[in-house]
Amino acid sequence: MKILVTGGAGFVGSHLCTRLIEDCHKVICLDNLYTGRVENIEPLMENDNFTFVQQDILEHLDISNLDRIYNLACPASPPAYQSDPIYTFKTSVLGIMNMIDLSIANGNIPLLQASTSEIYGDPAVNPQPESYWGNVNPIGIRSCYDEGKRAAETILMDYYRGKKLPIRIVRIFNTYGPNMDPQDGRVVSNFITQALNNHKLTMYGDGEQTRSFQYVSDLIEGMIRMMENEKDFIGPVNLGNPEEYTMKELAKLILELIPESKSKIVHKKLPSDDPKVRKPDIALAKEKLGWEPTVPVREGLLKTIDYFRSL
Ligand code: UDP
Repeated sequence: MKILVTGGAGFVGSHLCTRLIEDCHKVICLDNLYTGRVENIEPLMENDNFTFVQQDILEHLDISNLDRIYNLACPASPPAYQSDPIYTFKTSVLGIMNMIDLSIANGNIPLLQASTSEIYGDPAVNPQPESYWGNVNPIGIRSCYDEGKRAAETILMDYYRGKKLPIRIVRIFNTYGPNMDPQDGRVVSNFITQALNNHKLTMYGDGEQTRSFQYVSDLIEGMIRMMENEKDFIGPVNLGNPEEYTMKELAKLILELIPESKSKIVHKKLPSDDPKVRKPDIALAKEKLGWEPTVPVREGLLKTIDYFRSL
């Protein structure tokens, strides 16, 4: 198949491109390198089935004979998406509209949207099932991302109901692994790089807030199962690891896995609207896709630590 991956040079996108190439597809990777990195796709560049197009998703894109579109283009870490919030919102909302047009131009091909656990906001329900509508501040500093991704889900559902567009929506929970940008400010990359460099681990707030971390290969498997499911299951479906950690527990685990580290913890101000809890209910993914995470957090963190060591 000929498959377009937008945001293909990013952390998740690069793993998806790699897997699709391994599965013998032709892959077109679209990325403007705003947060994506050429290093992530360097190993694919020599492959005849791989094409890299450096272009913004907001620009018109003319590609024919496509079979699938995975839409991942959007800055995704809080510091990255907050650095230009207007651009982030446009990337989500106008970006998905461009991809909808491209799907239609190619004869209504399946379009998978990388949505996010952020659409649940600061959840009043834990764990979060897909049926939960969320608790989102529409005017806060995270809203450009949260509301942008919510709007993208909205327009996709309207095209599905009104035009029978074959959509797929996955809500991605915190994901980690090799190819994460050491500079992107996420907790896993920050803690690991800080621990490896004997710098203080920056704990925002009291560290009692929770997240659930899935290893990237589990996510990629879930995304492909979702795209290729033959039950016409459109989602939204949560993809995440339901093992829940406080940030204190995560810091402790990372320091245990890097025993030579002399790092201590320093507390910093909690950013506004930072969700207090986050944990996916994955019953739907299990039922519809036969999917659940297989990589234990300890094992995934060790692989990620090896990656950061190698940089
Ligand atoms: N966090 C932290 N130290 C850091 C970076 C993040 O304590 O150096 C916290 C952040 O406040 C949040 C959690 O870790 O509560 C996860 O943050 P991340 O940016 O990785 O992703 P989020 O789930 O907030 O989008």
